[in-house]
Amino acid sequence: MKVIKFGGSSVANAENIKKVVNIINQPQYQSTIVVVSALGGVTDLLISVGTDAANAKEQYKETLLNLEKRHIETVQALLPINNQSACISSVKQSFNELEDICEGVFRLGELSGRTKDRIISFGELLSSKIIYFYIQSTGSKIGWIDSRKAIKTNSNFGFAAVDFAATTESIKAIVAASSNTLFIAPGFIASDSNGFTTTLGRGGSDYTASIYAAAVHAEAVEIWTDVTGMMTADPRWVANARTIPHTSYREAMELSHFGAKVIYPPTIQPAMDQNIPIWIKNTFAPSEAGTLIENKPSEEGEIITGISSINQIALLSLEGSGMVGIPGFSKRLFEALANEQVNVILITQSSSEHSICVAVNTVDVAKAKAAVDNAFEIELMSKKVEPLKVEKELSIIALVGDKMKSHPGIAGRMFSALGRNGINIRAIAQGSSERNISAVVSFNDIKKAVNVLHEAFFETSHKQLNVFICGAGNVGGKLIDQIQQQQAYLLQNLNLQVRVTGIATSKKMLFVDNGNEIDVSHWKDALVNAETMSLQGFVDGIIAKNLRNSVFVDVTANAEVAGVYAQLLSKSIAVVACNKIAASSVYTNYQHLKSLAKEYNVPYLFETNVGAGLPVIGTLNDLIKSGDRINKIQAVLSGTLNFVFNNYDGTKPFAQVVKQAQDEGYTEPDPRLDLGGTDVMRKIMILAREAGNKMEMEDITNNGFLPAACFEGSVADFYIAMEKHEAHFKALYDAAAAKNCKLKFVAQFENGKASVGLQHIPSNSDFYHLYGKDNIVLFYTQRYPEQPMVVKGAGAGADVTASGVFADIMRVTAP
Ligand code: ADP
Ligand code: ASP
Ligand code: MG
Repeated sequence: MKVIKFGGSSVANAENIKKVVNIINQPQYQSTIVVVSALGGVTDLLISVGTDAANAKEQYKETLLNLEKRHIETVQALLPINNQSACISSVKQSFNELEDICEGVFRLGELSGRTKDRIISFGELLSSKIIYFYIQSTGSKIGWIDSRKAIKTNSNFGFAAVDFAATTESIKAIVAASSNTLFIAPGFIASDSNGFTTTLGRGGSDYTASIYAAAVHAEAVEIWTDVTGMMTADPRWVANARTIPHTSYREAMELSHFGAKVIYPPTIQPAMDQNIPIWIKNTFAPSEAGTLIENKPSEEGEIITGISSINQIALLSLEGSGMVGIPGFSKRLFEALANEQVNVILITQSSSEHSICVAVNTVDVAKAKAAVDNAFEIELMSKKVEPLKVEKELSIIALVGDKMKSHPGIAGRMFSALGRNGINIRAIAQGSSERNISAVVSFNDIKKAVNVLHEAFFETSHKQLNVFICGAGNVGGKLIDQIQQQQAYLLQNLNLQVRVTGIATSKKMLFVDNGNEIDVSHWKDALVNAETMSLQGFVDGIIAKNLRNSVFVDVTANAEVAGVYAQLLSKSIAVVACNKIAASSVYTNYQHLKSLAKEYNVPYLFETNVGAGLPVIGTLNDLIKSGDRINKIQAVLSGTLNFVFNNYDGTKPFAQVVKQAQDEGYTEPDPRLDLGGTDVMRKIMILAREAGNKMEMEDITNNGFLPAACFEGSVADFYIAMEKHEAHFKALYDAAAAKNCKLKFVAQFENGKASVGLQHIPSNSDFYHLYGKDNIVLFYTQRYPEQPMVVKGAGAGADVTASGVFADIMRVTAP
């Protein structure tokens, strides 16, 4: 014999019930007990009927009417017209009874546990009867078992404990007395020794199935639901969750105990006691294998089998100096909790014995606090212990796997993955079976935590990056284009999913809504109707989204934006900046950001601050990391200045050449930052700092070439001033040309000192053949003493800068 159970969504409506009956009709189920839940959502509605009636809310009547309508419509959709009357009158009779009960509750203004169980039992009574009539109408022979008679429990209404001896006996008798081989029975419900209806706890129909299976020594129990088996994580939260093909009873128990709702935890024990295999199958994809739970641990595959989580958790901490070395404290704590029937989900005790910390369901907090404070009244008065500390809004995340025992380092991997994503761990416990490591985290972090751990343990080759882009001008726009172009390639070849999850301009800001990403092909249209930009609003939004592997990308040249990095880094959000302001601000700020990045274990990257897309900072970092020492850096670092001096020979006015550079997008918004040398000073300072030197802008000698008048007034005034001083620029050019030299604006760093200025470059210099807007950097190091390490190429332009930013974004995924 088999026992198969169909859950609420499997029997939610006539269409689904037909699918269920198609399954039952297969030959392997000729000798079977079918257990069914109430139609999906009905138990919740019946509970609200009971509580509304008790609270004098007449609304309950309408809810009942709707429920009746739904059941009758289901009957009408299933049964041929001339077979309907018996079934409809049975449904109507149930609703008459329900009405009477509820009227009593309404009049009394009180809902006892016993009456509540009576009310909710109708969900399963109705569904099982309807399916029973339907199967009969198809000509199959089937018997209906009243689970209230078959399953015997104590009188703990809402959560009754099964009397297995009595239950086994009655089930055996019922089956033996019948000529049927196919039975249907309501799940969830039972009765106590007085004959009052009881229930087995929410989700209890799974348990009903394994109780029947144990009684008849079934060859298998099958739990049919709306997902394909037990999965590596709740598929509603983790898009890449996958079916666990095979697991042990113990693992399944741990997973369900820690929140894998797909199977009600007590279900496992009766089946395990008799070595009955449990299958979890999908009603909506019956041909998929699903999960097999049996007595064998899996031989191969992942060390971790699954990840589950429970919400609505509170931590209770009992602390005090009076606890040290005195035995019996924990016993008294647990006794106090047990007396109030508070279920302890997780326990930790610090090795100093100063505190014991337990996790319980939030609903139990009030009675737990009263009971514990009462039990320690004397110690509280003498201040040996402190009043029980309560923290709410927490969740537990658990990693489960039989094989954890033999694989050290799992906890480390777990905590570092959580830490990298800024998820704070409030308490940790590892079961002595070493089959589970669980951690208490904030409820706000739980969804992210589940995804982070799923990625760390099951998707080792698959990573998701959530990118928030601030600035959608020249470079930002190009960056979004490049991301769009590469998304499919990255996913396919590097298993890297780069999602744009926020875009802000100076006027508007756009966020993704639940779980989606921004459609990067239509971001401009989407931005039109987006919210008004507020920088703090954008930052708060990113923090509130709390997505794993979040990256803030600053493609502005704005000082205020540079001011928010610290907030983001301290929430473990990576920062990729094309904006140079932060890295070239006062040294203490630069250092602060670097140390925040280290402290929160998250990258702060700004490769494009020097040489746009050229790998300048990365190369310097690699040299230093590998133990080299920088002796000297010489560089042409301004694409703008290089462009200007490559194009200026006196035939066209200097101002016109500068204008061209600006029009082509090679200059800062105010070109004086380039022409005056400030931009180059910032860059050489950033390189000096990255090489380990404490340097400020004032420490750099600037041998500038612009006449003082050029620095007065607006950008427009600057162009006028350049025109006025054309002779000055011509003279600079002629002086160089007379020596067969080119003009280059060179930055230099040596012996802790930096300088920038215009130089005459002879034809044998590395700098001579530097065309267009190219940059060049020469690193003279201990390992490259005479022939320097050279990095050379286009050092400005939106496209190359965007690709440098893109490369930094992808660097964020490196562990
Ligand atoms: P039923 O009504 O069939 O009893 P439930 O809603 O009780 O179904 O359980 C199935 C649901 O459990 C799935 O839809 C899924 O969202 C949730 N779930 C949570 N954790 C897991 C997991 N690890 N594997 C599969 N499903 C899970
Ligand atoms: N109908 C009950 C509930 O919703 C039992 C079950 O579905 O397993 O909790
Ligand atoms: Mg269920």
